[in-house]
Amino acid sequence: MPKLNIQLPKGLETQPKEVREAVLETMRQALKLPKELPVTHSGGNEHNMWERNHDDLLADAEDDFYEYLQAPSTQRMADVFLALELTTDGIDMEKAFSMAWSAYSDELMKSPNKRQAKKNAKHLFSDLINAGKAKADQFLKYLQDGAPMTKKEISALNKLLKAKLPEYADKVEAFMTRAGGIGKIRNEAEKQNLQMVGMLVDRFPETIQAARRESLVLTTKEKAAKLPKRTTVMPLTPQESRAVEHATHSAASKITEVTARHIDGIKQLVLRAQKERWSVAKLQQALFDMYGEQNRDWRRVAITELSMATNDAYLSGLEEGESVVGMGSQDACKHCKQYVIGKDFTVMGEAPSEDTYSTDMKHVWAGKSNYGRRVSEYVPAIPMHPNCRCRWHRVSRFYKVPEGGGKPKLKESWELIQEERLKRGMGLDPNLPTPYSMRTSEG
Ligand SMILES: [Zn+2]
Repeated sequence: MPKLNIQLPKGLETQPKEVREAVLETMRQALKLPKELPVTHSGGNEHNMWERNHDDLLADAEDDFYEYLQAPSTQRMADVFLALELTTDGIDMEKAFSMAWSAYSDELMKSPNKRQAKKNAKHLFSDLINAGKAKADQFLKYLQDGAPMTKKEISALNKLLKAKLPEYADKVEAFMTRAGGIGKIRNEAEKQNLQMVGMLVDRFPETIQAARRESLVLTTKEKAAKLPKRTTVMPLTPQESRAVEHATHSAASKITEVTARHIDGIKQLVLRAQKERWSVAKLQQALFDMYGEQNRDWRRVAITELSMATNDAYLSGLEEGESVVGMGSQDACKHCKQYVIGKDFTVMGEAPSEDTYSTDMKHVWAGKSNYGRRVSEYVPAIPMHPNCRCRWHRVSRFYKVPEGGGKPKLKESWELIQEERLKRGMGLDPNLPTPYSMRTSEG
């Protein structure tokens, strides 16, 4: 399989024009380079977080990470229901969880390779309540008598809400390492011109340390006959593992923040219901709506943090000075369309010491993000925003992105030759046109 980062033949730039054109044309045909590269057709629906990511490897990671994150929330809310002697009778589940979630959940149940799927499905919550009823410690019976909770009850509620805080650190590292591996695989797949459809990974390392030692072994489903049966992707480089380490810290702190907010939300809701003498039905529905909201939070965290890890690892695997173009789905939001999709950027090896218009708008690096920025302050980065499913895609030296953005198009032979001459310190060939990008410096 030819590599797309192939060098142009030595001495090409000094050959007569006809020879150079012929050689480059032959190379293009050998590399099977299309006239232009599509810029959509990647990522997944940004407006429906329950729709599967178009990248199979990332889609599975999103499902697994989400499932891992939401499980403690489910248990916590079930514990609250049990302690308050609430039931799911008469609860409108569709209202709390949306049709899109229902469709997702049904789909998961059908999936044969999802071990947890049955437990993760719609009835999980009712099952938990039924299973817990016998041994429940119903110490907070909800009475609607308007009486404030006692100090003892509040402290019992606090204890209950914090009872099953999971030890996230190890697992989060495993998921971020997996995302980093997926970024690396994409990088290699592009270099070697491999299709990723139908690709399976034997096993992802679970720690960053392991990922620096162990190669990834890819196999393909038998149906995809055109692909090589087995491909090996080298362990993470120091730069790539650094990106994964940053992603791990950032995901862990995000999860801590969201968990604290969820716990606080439940507590406030229960206190308010007591104070305002809500009916049992009203409290049940309000808690369940909150549970639905928490579930969406975890899906958002899973998508966004995995995106950060995989795209940062991907950028870390590129050479400083390489070009990337943003790819996104057709239904991406206006911010992604305005700033990222179909736009090209120069990769920097490190974050710049100072933000300028050029670094903000024309460059990207691992770790560049819109975290903490208001919409009006957005800069091009992936993820652009929570739930963003755009990604970077290397633009090989054979392509250029048109001024103002769009699909990368094959460069003309003379452009490649001029670039090659400059790279080798030979100056431009006066008999050939000057590439647009070089006109300002050459006068
Ligand atoms: Zn977007």
